[in-house]
Amino acid sequence: MASDEASRDEASRDDASRDEASHDEASLLRLLRAVLECDTANFRPGQLEAMTAVMRGRDCLSLLPTGAGKSLVYVLPAMLRAERNAPGVTVVVTPLLSLLADQLRRCDEMGVDAEAWSGATDPTRLERIERDLRAAAADDEGPTLTLLFTTPESLQTPRLRAALRVASDNGHVAALAVDEAHCVSQWGHDFRPAYLALKDDRDELLGGAPIQALTATATRATEASIAAALGLRRDHVVARSSLNRANLGHEVVRRECLGDGGGDGEERAAVDHVVAVSRAAKATAPESAGIVYARERGECERVAELLATAGMDVEVFHAGRSKESLRRALANWAGGDIDAVVATVAFGMGIDKPDVRWVAHWGPPTSLEGLYQESGRAGRDGKPSRCVLYADAGELDKIRKLDPGRAEKVDAYVRGTSCRRAALLSHFDEGAGGGARACDENDVPCDACADVGAVKRMNAAADRKSDRDAERKLDEMRAAAEAAAEEAMRGGGRESAAREPVAKLAAAKPAAAPPTGPRRIPAFRPPTRRAAAAGASADVAAKRKFVCPMKKSADDPAKRR
Ligand SMILES: [Zn+2]
Repeated sequence: MASDEASRDEASRDDASRDEASHDEASLLRLLRAVLECDTANFRPGQLEAMTAVMRGRDCLSLLPTGAGKSLVYVLPAMLRAERNAPGVTVVVTPLLSLLADQLRRCDEMGVDAEAWSGATDPTRLERIERDLRAAAADDEGPTLTLLFTTPESLQTPRLRAALRVASDNGHVAALAVDEAHCVSQWGHDFRPAYLALKDDRDELLGGAPIQALTATATRATEASIAAALGLRRDHVVARSSLNRANLGHEVVRRECLGDGGGDGEERAAVDHVVAVSRAAKATAPESAGIVYARERGECERVAELLATAGMDVEVFHAGRSKESLRRALANWAGGDIDAVVATVAFGMGIDKPDVRWVAHWGPPTSLEGLYQESGRAGRDGKPSRCVLYADAGELDKIRKLDPGRAEKVDAYVRGTSCRRAALLSHFDEGAGGGARACDENDVPCDACADVGAVKRMNAAADRKSDRDAERKLDEMRAAAEAAAEEAMRGGGRESAAREPVAKLAAAKPAAAPPTGPRRIPAFRPPTRRAAAAGASADVAAKRKFVCPMKKSADDPAKRR
């Protein structure tokens, strides 16, 4: 009898929590439609799961691609709490100060009471935040603030920590949202050590509030390391949405195929290519502006100058520029007053300009994660957009020196002839991979799906060209080494002086080709000391009609010592 009663109680508790859950879901959907001003809007895959997990007090790792409404995942529950007069602030950690202003503006538009705490925040606003967080020890009403944005470094500010400690002691911290959570992972491509403190802060500062970790991209290894580094609880939920962006068309341009004569010719042709991409975009979307990513500050300046000379209206954005210049660049770009911004990869993180019609990488990125994330800043409005990656063999060699493991994947992507979309998705363990076509069901095909023949021709031409370049370079070095050896010997010079150019030549032997790479030139075997001193190999000697004086003096005892 008693056990019947107990199971009836349990069943009614289950019913009650089901009712509560469906009530929450209905309320969240109502808020979503109000925010998007669309009566038929619905949640994207993973969004609702991520919101309800944290509302039930569970940790959640959300893997939602750019444009899938990542921020709504913490904004909507905060709005719901405010609507129900439930106290509690969600602390949102974002990596960049430049994101804070943008986030606040969007919250303001949605009618959410949000503030940002950073070194750039006005002192009177800091006071308001502090007062608000410390409110309600007595009257239980709690803070009116629903979202508090900050950076991981600003979260270490003693004044903010003291106020947050009061709020959490009063039970007024609802959640800790960690945006761009891949920054916590040493496997991630944007590792930020300050993120590592968040794990302890959740328990010691924020009263064990649930963590909502958000990222657009993570391989399985990154996903596991985010969970470990943030100390997500064992029962944490992983809310995942497909990373596919149907409206993005990925293309690769092998620079070697552009222009004649290599060097400047190639570069000028690449500039013309960017100009054409930009003009085509402006013709259909005058308000739009593109992004050109370069790897370093100096490169940004140089590329911007090249594009400006070719008639494009561009701004430069990187950390070496003054605040005023950055503000102007951002405003002009956001307003579509210019053609493009030339920037390092930090630009665009969290900036929500929906109509970016094209993104170009001036050189290969250091990882496919980076490529996905940066090119994902195009087409957030869902309209067709281009993602163009320019690369040549020399640049691929350069990134290989930075991180061989990641560069190998970028190399395979650049030299590949199969679907780019499939290649990117399979990197994140999604889709069939292995050369399958993934573009058929999407709005915009990649270059390989659009015309695989053209991609194959481009690769063959680029490989022939880079082989020729490498052979020419080796010929030049061989000749220089021989000439130096001859010079040293003729002048009765040191034997070591004769060896120097030969040693340099040995060091310059071509880098090992990637496993997926095209045919490669045979590895160059540096001449032995003896052969070098003797005028190198017979064929070279014959070609150059050169007889080394060492040959005559090989038996000279003075030279043997
Ligand atoms: Zn494709």
